[in-house]
This record gives sequence, C-alpha cells and structure tokens, in this order.
Amino acid sequence: MQSPVEFFRNLPKKVCPECGQVVKEQAESYLMECDRCLSKRAE
Ligand SMILES: [Zn+2]
Repeated sequence: MQSPVEFFRNLPKKVCPECGQVVKEQAESYLMECDRCLSKRAE
C-alpha cells in the first residue's frame, strides 16, 4: 500500500495544455504553458 506521503509525491506534474510537455514548477509563474509555447505566443 502507498502511504499518504507517497501518494502526494506521485501526483501528476503540471503539464502544458498546448503540447503536453511537463512544465517545471516556477514559484513566480502563474502560467500553465511551457517555455516553448510561451515564446510562441509572444511572437
Ligand atoms: Zn507547451
């Protein structure tokens, strides 16, 4: 069985809704997209 701690550790990471790539957690960032998609939008 998994302990509650293990359960929370295994929660899915934040994933970019545009391309499905895992987005690194950034404390400053409220954005969901990965860097690549963000840079695309900036153009
Ligand atoms: Zn993306």
